[in-house]
Amino acid sequence: MSAERRAEVAANLEHVRARIAEACRASGRPEDDVTLTVVTKFFPASDVRILAGLGVTEVGENRHQEALEKSAECADLDVRWHYIGGLQSNKAAAVAAYADMVESVDRPKLVNGLARGAAQRGRPLDVLLQVSLDPPEQAEGRSGVHPDDLGSLAQKVAGTDDLVLRGLMAVAPLGADPNDAFERLTGIAERFRDDHPDAGVISAGMSGDLEAAILHGATHVRVGRGVLGERPTIK
Ligand SMILES: *Cc1c(COP(=O)(O)O)cnc(C)c1O
Repeated sequence: MSAERRAEVAANLEHVRARIAEACRASGRPEDDVTLTVVTKFFPASDVRILAGLGVTEVGENRHQEALEKSAECADLDVRWHYIGGLQSNKAAAVAAYADMVESVDRPKLVNGLARGAAQRGRPLDVLLQVSLDPPEQAEGRSGVHPDDLGSLAQKVAGTDDLVLRGLMAVAPLGADPNDAFERLTGIAERFRDDHPDAGVISAGMSGDLEAAILHGATHVRVGRGVLGERPTIK
């Protein structure tokens, strides 16, 4: 592991942690109110090792094969793996073998596979429902359950023995003001908690918009580039 890479990641991490702390202060929230998940997609297992050494406990991945291999290489580390990517239903059980939390559950077809995978590993799986904040004309092809369909999806997850419904995940729409998007998310999350009072996680905000997300109540932010730098185009 290169000392240079470690120093670079440490400096970036310090900067992102300071941004989170400042955004908490600006929102009148305690500094430890927000959990940082570092998105390690496209970056090697050696970076996960560096992050763990710097006190990072949550890492995020968005491609199954890559996550499977990296989590195996890092099995000795005390980190929790968040699966945040698009998910094929025939891969859902396999993701549950290594993921500690799946944040991208956006359709009923995923639920049975995830529950089966969690049962096979013998430990319940934490789940977030990914809700779409896209305007209808942009929603085509993007991930996330429409807010109108959130209730029935939540019921399906809550009805399993092996999945634990923890809350919601969202990505701000491309090109839109993240403040508007995350304000909508706050309203959706409030209504959601009426029915699921224990599912209080709001995973929102990335390198470019974490301040807006924290201002609107995010409990988890998912930061990739801000900590690890621009993603390599070829792995
Ligand atoms: C890649 C990714 C992130 C991190 O984005 P950055 O801009 O690198 O911080 C966050 N959330 C999801 C769902 C992602 O796919």
